[in-house]
Amino acid sequence: MNNFLKNAVPGVQLLNPYQPGKPVEELERELGISNAIKLASNENPLGPSKKAIEAAQSVIGNVNYYPDGAGHKLSLALARKHGVDQSCITLGNGSNDILELVGRAFLAPCNSAVYSEYSFAVYPLVVQAVGAEARVAKAYPSDHPDMPYGHDLNAIFEQITTSTRVVFIANPNNPTGTWLELDELNHFLSRVADDILIVLDEAYFEYMPEDLKPDTQKLLKQYKNLLITRTFSKIYGLAGLRIGYSISHPDIADILNRVRQPFNTNMPAQAAALAAVDDQDHVSNSANLNAAGLKQYAKAFADLGLSYIPSIANFIAVNVNKDAMPVYDALLREGVIVRPVASYKMPEFLRITVGNEQQNNRVLKALQKVL
Ligand SMILES: *Cc1c(COP(=O)(O)O)cnc(C)c1O
Repeated sequence: MNNFLKNAVPGVQLLNPYQPGKPVEELERELGISNAIKLASNENPLGPSKKAIEAAQSVIGNVNYYPDGAGHKLSLALARKHGVDQSCITLGNGSNDILELVGRAFLAPCNSAVYSEYSFAVYPLVVQAVGAEARVAKAYPSDHPDMPYGHDLNAIFEQITTSTRVVFIANPNNPTGTWLELDELNHFLSRVADDILIVLDEAYFEYMPEDLKPDTQKLLKQYKNLLITRTFSKIYGLAGLRIGYSISHPDIADILNRVRQPFNTNMPAQAAALAAVDDQDHVSNSANLNAAGLKQYAKAFADLGLSYIPSIANFIAVNVNKDAMPVYDALLREGVIVRPVASYKMPEFLRITVGNEQQNNRVLKALQKVL
């Protein structure tokens, strides 16, 4: 076999493959157990909305047909939900797809993208795959009084050069769960040149307390260079169907549409997402369960003497005060799958998805045992 890696484009040679959370079935097979739990990929413990399941089932017999490439019904519902014109909505095969479209449409080897340390693992994949330069801004330090490991928008601003075309900002951020104050965000957006695309990744938006949620409609009106991404994978519980979207100025949506696969979102996913948008009770139940779970973890970590990063997302990063890899392995042997984040340069942290109360208790008990 030839060394094919040397033939890969230079950015790809430097990439490490994304490491997904370990599937429950795989762990159960390895250990010969049957009651493993997975709190590793920020999935909704309540599952999808019943209405979304029914909607997906109702179209499954029609999958000999291609889906509606434009996703007309879904994008119309999303446009109404956000109070924008339908031409502002771009659908993606997960919001990950939207991030890829941004990379392909706006980044090339001669230019750069900026994002923070400890931010979402997909940003380097997107940037390096197209050979662009990744300019990584320092995050707030671990001893920052309010937002340890959080995005430092001044540091991000400082990394912007004449070659920069895109800035990725996650709010709240994964894997830290940290967030941006509204005035900081506004100040940043007002300073950045209006020909630089700001991607505001809001995968966990629906979990945010109301007073921290940016006003989507207002921001988009004010900043034409803003692209907001949302997903059905997290609070909507549809990760397995792969569907997300962006809201932006129609000119930006038009550019993304030029590089989009014609049928990038599938028929059951479009149907399920449409029904899910209509089931806001499921969303609020999920947000309430999550808020209770975050409190449960905060209290338990304090009792165990463990420090953690304050989070408003559906996961929490806890510092185990030593190499977290052996702790992760020991938790696996207890049938508990969480996420090590050494690849994010946080080797002493584990990222734990907030489950239901019983699942959280099981993680905490196992953690106490293995520590
Ligand atoms: C999970 C996640 C996404 C997107 O996931 P999709 O399933 O592709 O929609 C995007 N950004 C962040 C920060 C995430 O954690």
